[in-house]
Amino acid sequence: RYQDLDSCAICLSRPRDCVLLNCGHVCACSECAIVLQPPQCPICRDRIARIVPLYHA
Ligand SMILES: [Zn+2]
Ligand SMILES: [Zn+2]
Repeated sequence: RYQDLDSCAICLSRPRDCVLLNCGHVCACSECAIVLQPPQCPICRDRIARIVPLYHA
């Protein structure tokens, strides 16, 4: 299940590159996270208060 860990849980095509707060899940790419309606985490359905980009060196 390595691919599941690396790819966005929503579009399955882009890498996960942001953290959803307040739950802290890293489960989506920023493009998907920004347009989620309603704005809730796809894993735990907690409300998304903030989306923090992950920057990979
Ligand atoms: Zn995505
Ligand atoms: Zn979550």
